Amino acid sequence: MKTIGFFGGTFDPVHQGHIHMALEAKAHLDLDEVRLVPCHNPPHRGQPQLSSRQRLQLLHLAIEGVDGLFVDERELRRDGPSWTVDTLRECRLEWGHEVSIVLLMGADAYAGLCQWHQWQCLPMLAHIAVLRRPGYSLPKSGILADWITNSDKQVIHSQPAGMVVVLEQAPMDISATQLRQQLAEGLVPEGLAPKVRDYIITHHLYRSTER
Ligand code: ATP
Repeated sequence: MKTIGFFGGTFDPVHQGHIHMALEAKAHLDLDEVRLVPCHNPPHRGQPQLSSRQRLQLLHLAIEGVDGLFVDERELRRDGPSWTVDTLRECRLEWGHEVSIVLLMGADAYAGLCQWHQWQCLPMLAHIAVLRRPGYSLPKSGILADWITNSDKQVIHSQPAGMVVVLEQAPMDISATQLRQQLAEGLVPEGLAPKVRDYIITHHLYRSTER
């Protein structure tokens, strides 16, 4: 069965932590491809600093020449809150049930999953792979802890949805929040792909207006 990694985020901006996650998940789970899906209207946080178009542009630069990573623009075509459950339903309508979808997220996102719109429907639409992130632990009790099972690649490749697994990749301590702060101070931070960094610097993105 074709197996697609589905990696949503605000990507404000996309950083090497995201690319590392996507590639680790692809390698560990033998995914055919990973789609990075920029969120248009994030329902659980303030509006991103950059417009959707600018974030999209940075994503394209970040994955240029990286095998197996793609940008999926579907959420940018939809107005209203970008609920993941709606996006996955749209994918199912398009791809049917002969495709395995693996929703990728960091441990911070998984810890807050119960706040997501219709979160209990997510495992009916996709598998979930959680990637460790420094400073965030996995739920130890409750339904989110109960959902986690041992990773079984065979199930992920033979069933369209339903498993929740944790990937034991080396975590990367990097966040878009940190990067935005450094850029606002006029610093050139580590952790951005060179083309993304150059574009941000050339276009003075994230610079604080007081400067
Ligand atoms: P911000 O600091 O603005 O919240 P972010 O760095 O967390 O941004 P997002 O675009 O919000 O990036 O995250 C998209 C997804 O990537 C989320 O599931 C998040 O958990 C995950 N993620 C981002 N950075 C890392 C990282 N360093 N390690 C593991 N997961 C990460």
